[in-house]
Amino acid sequence: MKPLLREAPAVLFDLDGTLYRLGPMRRRMMFELTRWGLGHPLAFPRLMGALREFRSAREELRGFAEDGQALAEVQYELPAGRLGMSPEELQGLVEEWMFARPLPFLAQSAWPGLRDVLLELRGAGKRLGVFSDYAPDQKLEALGVRDLFDVTLAATDPAVNRFKPDPRGFIVGAERLGVAPGEAVYVGDREDVDGAGAAAAGMSHVMVGGAAREDPRLARIDSFAALRGLV
Ligand SMILES: [Mg+2]
Repeated sequence: MKPLLREAPAVLFDLDGTLYRLGPMRRRMMFELTRWGLGHPLAFPRLMGALREFRSAREELRGFAEDGQALAEVQYELPAGRLGMSPEELQGLVEEWMFARPLPFLAQSAWPGLRDVLLELRGAGKRLGVFSDYAPDQKLEALGVRDLFDVTLAATDPAVNRFKPDPRGFIVGAERLGVAPGEAVYVGDREDVDGAGAAAAGMSHVMVGGAAREDPRLARIDSFAALRGLV
């Protein structure tokens, strides 16, 4: 029998779209990109093409399941080859535009009550972790909640080397939290990657936020603060 959030000794979280809202962040970054593009009209199409190709390769690599190659490198090599760009150049663009430049806007996009809800979960004796497809630590610092997590883990960590919905990261995350996967609850925002991955690892899950195209019968709460009602 899988535990409800109330009984679970550990909770593992997704980050993007789960600890902060994607809508405000996407609008803000679209504004930043457009503003930069006005000053750099020749470089702009190349930048946008690179970001698009990187994202699409990342979605394709959800099926990647090899141990001989580092996913942290393949995620740049695959799209860079298609773009006719070096992996290093692509990595530089991605790190600037997808990781560094969004950081100052993260706190404004955080779900209301984020820190308080996490504190309540800790107060209830639960161990907390993050398992994200992207490196979580800088984002958690920017959200002001890094100190509340016992474990942080990225899909590109050598111990995982798989994007969601592969169950490996969920299993490693639970192990690092000191529980069996079946004892933890995963909180995410995408049923197709978070829900499917947690289910494949034998972990129960809760989805935060509204995704219009999904089956309305799925377990979903409409805000992060609504997690309180489950504890
Ligand atoms: Mg997410």
